[in-house]
Amino acid sequence: QFEGTRMSYVVAPPKVTSIPVVGGGEFPVRRVICVGRNYEAHAREMGRDPTREPPFFFTKPADAVIPDGSAVAYPPETANLHYEIELVVVIGKDGFEIPEDKALEHVFGYAVGIDLTRRDLQMAARELGRPWDWGKAFDDSAPIAPIQPVAKVGHPAKGRIWLSVNGTVKQDADIADLIWSVPEIVSICSRSIRLKAGDVIMTGTPAGVGAIVAGDKVEGGVDGVGKIAITITPRS
Ligand code: MN
Repeated sequence: QFEGTRMSYVVAPPKVTSIPVVGGGEFPVRRVICVGRNYEAHAREMGRDPTREPPFFFTKPADAVIPDGSAVAYPPETANLHYEIELVVVIGKDGFEIPEDKALEHVFGYAVGIDLTRRDLQMAARELGRPWDWGKAFDDSAPIAPIQPVAKVGHPAKGRIWLSVNGTVKQDADIADLIWSVPEIVSICSRSIRLKAGDVIMTGTPAGVGAIVAGDKVEGGVDGVGKIAITITPRS
C-alpha cells in the first residue's frame, strides 16, 4: 500500500522494521526513543536521586526492534546484559510542541517491550560523560510485542508491570508509578524534536533490573496491554 518510488539507490535501501498490530496490520517503526529513570525505585537502584528532575531521553535505531518470541543471541562486548521491562507508546500522528492535554491524540497504541542494556558499557560511558549508545542502541536491543491499538485498550494509566527470568519474578510494579506520565513524556519530548507517526517511545523500567545469560527465558507483561517472551542464546 505504501510503496516507495523506484530510485537509483547505490546500495539496497534499509528494510522497514515493523511491529504487528493486534487485530491486523503492521506499524512501521521510524525510531525508538527511550526515557531514562522514570520509576523512583529504579532511579535509586541506579544510584541516582529519584526527585522529579526533567526527564531525559536516549534512542535506539529502528532496526533494533525485534518481535515477541525472538531468540536473542548474547550481544558482543559485554559481560553484563540486563533486562528492563517497559510500557511502550507508539505515535500515530505527527506533532511538534504538543500540549499535554492533546498528547494522547498522537498515540496510536501501546505495547510491552524490553530495553536490553549492556550495563557495563552504559555505566562506563556514564562515568566518563560519554554517550550511552553502545550500552543501549545495539543490534536486537528492543524486543517489542504486538501493539494494542488505542481503539481496543484505551490509554492504560495503571496496571501491573512485571518481568520474570526462568519463572522467577524480578520486576513487579505498576505503570501508575511512572514519574512522568505518558502525556507528559509525549509533550516534553515533542518540544525538542518533531515526533512523527512511526516513532516508538519506551517509557522506562521499574526496579529490579539484573543480568541475564545464554539459556535464560525472559517473560514480562503489562496488565491490559500484553505479554512478551524472549530467550537468550549463546553468542552467534
Ligand atoms: Mn530503559
